[in-house]
Amino acid sequence: MDKEISFSNVNHVYEPNSPLAKLALNGVNLDIDKGSFVAIIGHTGSGKSTLIQHINALLKPTSGSVQVGNYTITSKTTNKNLKQLRQHVGMVFQFPEKQLFAESVLKDVMFGPQNYGKSSHDAEDAAKDALQLVNIDEELFDKSPFDLSGGQMRRVAIAGVLAMQPDVLILDEPTAGLDPEGHYEIMQLVNKLNVERHVTIILVTHQMEDVVEYASQVIVMEDGKIVSDGKVVDVFSDPNWLATKQLTLPKAAQFALDLGIGQNSLPLTIDDLA
Ligand code: ADP
Repeated sequence: MDKEISFSNVNHVYEPNSPLAKLALNGVNLDIDKGSFVAIIGHTGSGKSTLIQHINALLKPTSGSVQVGNYTITSKTTNKNLKQLRQHVGMVFQFPEKQLFAESVLKDVMFGPQNYGKSSHDAEDAAKDALQLVNIDEELFDKSPFDLSGGQMRRVAIAGVLAMQPDVLILDEPTAGLDPEGHYEIMQLVNKLNVERHVTIILVTHQMEDVVEYASQVIVMEDGKIVSDGKVVDVFSDPNWLATKQLTLPKAAQFALDLGIGQNSLPLTIDDLA
């Protein structure tokens, strides 16, 4: 398998040289293969968000390096020449609908590709493709994004990232606050991008069912360190170890795991097992 992302001895200190200095990543080493579906779990404050922001150089390592495709990101990396990296790695932040701004759905989704130099015509094609992927009907294209339902707004915001046609998609709790149907739609979309378009997925989540159902690799973070990294079946095989991390598998997830149900076993869902 080709490697997509590699962290070598990455430390990240917030507010260095101040009394508030915080070592948020502590000696992180990590490899992610092209086309994989990786879940990152761990408690609030364990460093998940800090970790993912290194992948498109929103944050830079205080020491160590991050390799993403042809890019090497170190403490010396400047904000110049990051365009290609930011196109390659799409980032869906928590509550991405907060970033919607344009007067229409289509214009909002076209903004990214246009801003990155595509002609209006090509940007429109990319936006329409992305909106189709997230199941937004054409009749909504001219509406204000603020007139949509919460789930639709979330999907339009995700379409804005997909319109850049990223090869790597990072999602930070993309289903937070959605109802079960909205949750299912987003997870199906993410899975489809992985399976059909071979997009590498990095998903930060608290939902263990999703880890079992969709991910191939799981990374467990604690206090800025990676304390486990491997196949979901292996990392989750020891409930006692999980318990030491205050992580528990819901029954349905345990059942699915016992049955050997995992990534790409659709259309069976956790709901079918509950
Ligand atoms: P998670 O995403 O797992 O909740 P974070 O990466 O957000 O964890 O945070 C890791 C640690 O770094 C926490 O102790 C948090 O308080 C601290 N931290 C996060 N962002 C900042 C910041 N901008 N300035 C100072 N400390 C921060």
